[in-house]
Order: sequence, then structure tokens, then C-alpha cells
Amino acid sequence: MADFRSLGLNDKLLNSIAEMGWTEPTPIQIETVPAGLSGQDILAQAQTGTGKTGSYALIVLSRTRSGSRKPTTLVLAPTRELAVQVREEIYKLSKYTGHRCIPVYGGASIGEQARGLREGADIVVGTPGRLKDMITRGHLDLSEIKEVVLDEADRMLDMGFADELDFIMDSVPAERHTLLFSATMADSIRHIALKRMRSPVEISVSKDEPVSDLVTQYWVPLPRGVKMERLETILANGCPKAVVFCQTKKMVDLLADRLSDRFKVGTLHGDIPQTQRERTVRGFRGDRFQVLIATDVAARGLDINSIDLVVNFDIPADPESYVHRIGRTGRAGKEGTAISFVTKPEEYLIRRYERETGKRIMKMTAEDIPSAGTMVIDDRVSASGGRRRRISYDGPKKGAVRYAAPVARY
Ligand code: AMP
Repeated sequence: MADFRSLGLNDKLLNSIAEMGWTEPTPIQIETVPAGLSGQDILAQAQTGTGKTGSYALIVLSRTRSGSRKPTTLVLAPTRELAVQVREEIYKLSKYTGHRCIPVYGGASIGEQARGLREGADIVVGTPGRLKDMITRGHLDLSEIKEVVLDEADRMLDMGFADELDFIMDSVPAERHTLLFSATMADSIRHIALKRMRSPVEISVSKDEPVSDLVTQYWVPLPRGVKMERLETILANGCPKAVVFCQTKKMVDLLADRLSDRFKVGTLHGDIPQTQRERTVRGFRGDRFQVLIATDVAARGLDINSIDLVVNFDIPADPESYVHRIGRTGRAGKEGTAISFVTKPEEYLIRRYERETGKRIMKMTAEDIPSAGTMVIDDRVSASGGRRRRISYDGPKKGAVRYAAPVARY
């Protein structure tokens, strides 16, 4: 079994890794860290939840010194949420190396971010729009950049940041080390690799199994009009920590309105001011909220490991979004459940997503969701190693569903 030391990391990083409780590297870390440390450009296909942030953070923290006057590492991320999370992970990993990392994203004071940069930063993590703005206004000097990371590159293109990416990549020194991470390997990503990287080594850890075995997937056939009622029933069955995905901002607000009498609810969507969104994510992490209702973009990269349940209140129309949403649960070794509400015309999507994820999506009828009972989801791993999940009900007690009960081994 590989350990972090064998990847070639120094003692300072090994200490912070140990303090973070990471006992062994994830597959993407095993593959990328040695190649990255040797200076090879890397084109990596990896989803959120695989430990990709740790991969590139460890590489750049190893390859650059702290205390530089101008930044030496630039990390580009599609959303503010991801930028903040990346910054937090780098902050923890750099505890003993002393690197200073500054996040730069829209929706927050440009003056304050500029001041942070003036005071000195080794690593800048930012969203493409704000980074371009900072460069144009002369707040960000990229002349000393040695390491460039493009995180969730496919998402940056999807969000329409191609011009900003070009501008930023034209602004960093040609002599540099480039790491690109993307959940998918579309032609547009290969094009960037070809244009902006030097014979990158291609690494993929999730091609065959993009969805974790730890996520059990269900779908519920239902007419649109009963979705709200079903959701309330599911949430009322105990108190799973849940993320509910909706297709529109309006629906997020509507659901929050309806549910907030009974549940501690937080919302995330593009119209909510940035500071409030950050507060909501912290509140959810810290158990101030039980239920987070979100649209796709706002929840991109959401890094919370203790989510028991993902509900697709509206099933997304594309596989990438589906995989991304259900990947919010079943993280860091914990079991998770994903339930999708599906109206008749949407049923074909289930077969498509089964094909896409290579996993069974089990049908759960309205009767499987007891109106006031205790639903026990019981996972067993059989002697042959296969996983079996049984749903049973504990009579008409109000309250307590035990979601994703501990895995019983026999
Ligand atoms: P990411 O794929 O970067 O979104 O990481 C997903 C989560 O896994 C984050 O909470 C990381 O802190 C955590 N993580 C990353 N690497 C490891 C590791 N080697 N062992 C345990 N947890 C890890």
C-alpha cells in the first residue's frame, strides 16, 4: 500500500497531512503527486471527492518556497465556493510550510483582495472573471508564476470563461509547470492541453467508475404535484443531513419557504449574495442547517463530507450534472443515499444514468416511503463481498429514520 512518504513529500507536508487525519493517499494522489513533483505537466480526469485538490496542493507546496514577494502559484477555479474550499485546504496543508494563500473572486471587495495581494501571497486562488479584472487593473503581478493549476477546467468552459482563461494563460510566464484537472475530457479540454501544456502526462482515475460504490441510488416515479409532499415525508423520517437539488432559483426559494417551518433549511443559488452563501455553507457544515436546497451552479464543488442524502427534487437533464449531484454524498468513506424524483416523461433518463454510472438505480415507490414510520436502510456486505441494501420499516413512529445505517459485516 502506498503511503504519503513514498510519494516523495517532505516532512512539513507529512506533518500537516497527518494532522488532517489523512492516513493514505487517494488513487489520484498516488498517480499525480510523483509525476507532478518531477515537473511533468499533468492532464488529470478526476471528479470532486477523489482528493484532487490535495493532489495539486501537495505538488505546488512541494515545488515552491513560501515567503515570496510576488505569487508563484496561480490556481483557477470556476466558482467562488470552490475557490474558498481550495484555499481552506491549502491553508491546512501549508501549516508548516508557511505558504500564504489568497482567494480572489467576484462578489467580494476588490480593494480588500488587492490589499491582501500587496501584503504578499505565495498562492493565489481565483475565479477567472475576477482574476482577469485584477490583472487588468494592475493588482496582480504574474511575472513570478511557476505553477499554474486549472481546477474543474470543463466547468470553467461550461460557464463561459474561455476568453478569461485565454487572457490569463497569456499573462503567465511561458516557462512554467501546468496542472489541469477536469471531470470530463471533452475536445475543448484537449485543445487547451495541446495549446497550453508541454507534453502532459494523462491521468484518469475515475473513467470506469465515476460514481462511488458508497452511494446507493433510488428513483421515485411520481407526478409533479406530489413532489413537495414526498420530500417532506422523506425529510421527516428522521433527520438526515440532506442536499436537495432544484432546477431553478425560484424553486429553491419556494421549497425553502415551504420547509422552513419544520426543518432547519439553508439555500444556495446565484442570486444570493456571496457572503451569505459562504455563511450558509459554514452553517450546514456546522450543523446549523439540516437541509441545504440548491441549484447546480451554486453547489458546484461543495465539499462537505457528512451528507447522508441527496434528493434530486428535479432530475437534471444531463449525466454530468447527475453524477456531480449524487457525488455530494458517499464521500470520505461514508455511505450515502441519492433519491431522484422522476415524472413520467423523464423516466428514460434513469436508464441513461444507469448506463452512464454503470450502477443500478433502484425504484422506490410511494409505498416505500412511509408516511410516519421509521425507515431503516440496512446495508450489509455479504461474505462474498457483494453489497446488499434492505429497506425496512419500524412501525408508525414519528421521527427517526436511520439513514444509511452503519454497514453491518458478516
Ligand atoms: P476533493 O476531491 O479535492 O474535493 O476532496 C474531497 C475530500 O477528501 C476533501 O474533504 C479532502 O479534504 C478529503 N481528502 C483528500 N485527500 C484525502 C486523503 N488522502 N485521505 C482522506 N481524505 C482526503
